[in-house]
Amino acid sequence: MNRIIEIYDTTLRDGAQSEGVSFSVEDKLRITQKLDELGVHFIEGGWPGSNPRDVEYFEQVRKLRLSHARVAAFGSTHHAKFKVEDDPNMRALVDAETPVITIFGKTWDLHVRDALGISNDKNLLLISNSIRHLKKHAELVFFDAEHFFDGYKANPEYAIKCLKAAEEAGADCVILCDTNGGTLPHEVEAIVTRVLSELRAPVGIHAHNDSEVAVANSLAAINLGAMQVQGTINGLGERCGNANLCSVIASLKIKMGMDCIPDDRLKTLRETSRFVTEIANMRHFARQPFVGDSAFAHKGGIHVSAIARNPLTYEHIKPELVGNAQRVLVSDLAGKSNVIRKARECGMKLDADSPELDAIVKSLKKLENQGYQFEGADASFEILMKKAMGLHRSFFDLIGFRVIVEKRREG
Ligand SMILES: [Zn+2]
Repeated sequence: MNRIIEIYDTTLRDGAQSEGVSFSVEDKLRITQKLDELGVHFIEGGWPGSNPRDVEYFEQVRKLRLSHARVAAFGSTHHAKFKVEDDPNMRALVDAETPVITIFGKTWDLHVRDALGISNDKNLLLISNSIRHLKKHAELVFFDAEHFFDGYKANPEYAIKCLKAAEEAGADCVILCDTNGGTLPHEVEAIVTRVLSELRAPVGIHAHNDSEVAVANSLAAINLGAMQVQGTINGLGERCGNANLCSVIASLKIKMGMDCIPDDRLKTLRETSRFVTEIANMRHFARQPFVGDSAFAHKGGIHVSAIARNPLTYEHIKPELVGNAQRVLVSDLAGKSNVIRKARECGMKLDADSPELDAIVKSLKKLENQGYQFEGADASFEILMKKAMGLHRSFFDLIGFRVIVEKRREG
């Protein structure tokens, strides 16, 4: 393990901006506890200046005993029309009483001109004033450089100046944000290389997934020297979401030899992922890398016979490392190995020489051809095997049934 990478989770702030997701204060507190158990370094709890729910969260979260993570409040640089100490957003951030405060500021001159309507120099002042002020109230102050990559492409010198203003004001980490998610890994590499040559302060990465490369962008930045990665569990977030921390954490620890969460916590990754899905009231994404149900599910007969000999033939990591498990699916694409494996899972003795094996495979393929689907029906397949092996006991005789549907009122 050569470097420790800080994991900054923003499931409760950026993740809560996902379409269809709404976390209550209670939900947020439960997720906070779960993230702390996972061993992330920072948990961004919300934006105290933006809604009363987040204000309440920050009041409640102080009572939690967290063993690992530090909670961060999120907000923006102060408004140009207020003095920094009179700005209501700044006050809300300080009143949240968190050990960490993260503020975002503009680094794209187009935004400075069209969104803020101020001069480039004034924006630099907003950044440094805000950070200097907050440094008096929090252990750590992070600066999220909003739209940094787009800003850099439009005006590299100004974008870097904004980072330097944050660094000089004492920001503990300067986070490069791909806010619109349009940047590709080779661009991230070129831009991060330049930033690292200009800055002494630790650099972080906050990538959105609009080009489906948020994880790749995050890993590219870390590989070059970024010390902090921001993202969300399951990649929740506005539009197409944020960098998926499940994939980032697994890749860092298993593939890149970099430390982030404690070793013994890695195997709780799948559990954490499912926990957040549950609280978000969503279906767990089966094809989610590392932690999804299908991530280590094998269907093709050739694959199944190969993994029976050596799992490395068709698996990039050991699924147990992240708390997942190998699964074998049974369908008309299955071969004898799938059936043998399924039979063993059901506690039946069946091997390659068993005379019933051919009959089972044949009837499976015939029934699937007729429209049956055994992939998601393990119990039905067990009955099919038992029938072929003469082990099936019939508990009921179907005489018939009647279905009655009734509706008594309009509406
Ligand atoms: Zn974001």
